[in-house]
Amino acid sequence: MTSRKQENLVIEQRGRRKDRDTGAFQEIHQTAHWDPRQTGLIICDMWDDHTCKFAAQRVAEMVPTMNRMVSAAREAGVFIIHAPSGTMSFYDETPQRRRAIEAPFAESPVEIKWNYWDPEREGEPLPFILSGGCGCIEPCLGWITDDKGSRQWKGGRGALDPTD
Ligand SMILES: [Zn+2]
Repeated sequence: MTSRKQENLVIEQRGRRKDRDTGAFQEIHQTAHWDPRQTGLIICDMWDDHTCKFAAQRVAEMVPTMNRMVSAAREAGVFIIHAPSGTMSFYDETPQRRRAIEAPFAESPVEIKWNYWDPEREGEPLPFILSGGCGCIEPCLGWITDDKGSRQWKGGRGALDPTD
């Protein structure tokens, strides 16, 4: 999101398109104009910590930029949806979580599905993926869950906060 034009958001989109003949990818740029009241921003798995210290470090570096973008989107009227996996019990009693639970079901216009790693298409995963996502020289401990089976951390300090 780069700027607003009248009521619409002006979105500079980038992508890649595979040439059917050569198999080569070309970068694509296009500008879209979206009504912020018809736009949702889904933020997946932005936690305040991670089992891998390098993963946590990467997230901490992204957070200031993301917070500026999310604040601008919210101010423009975009609906912000936080979708962390495994940490939801921390938010069970918040008004924001209640509102999300009570929201009417809306069918997606496109299929949303989990895409498992496809070695034929993507090649063999890097060694750190095979070892649980940790690429540290001294391997990190892995998932630690609370009594509800949720990971022990939450959103909040130093991270994007779903209760904002
Ligand atoms: Zn690690």
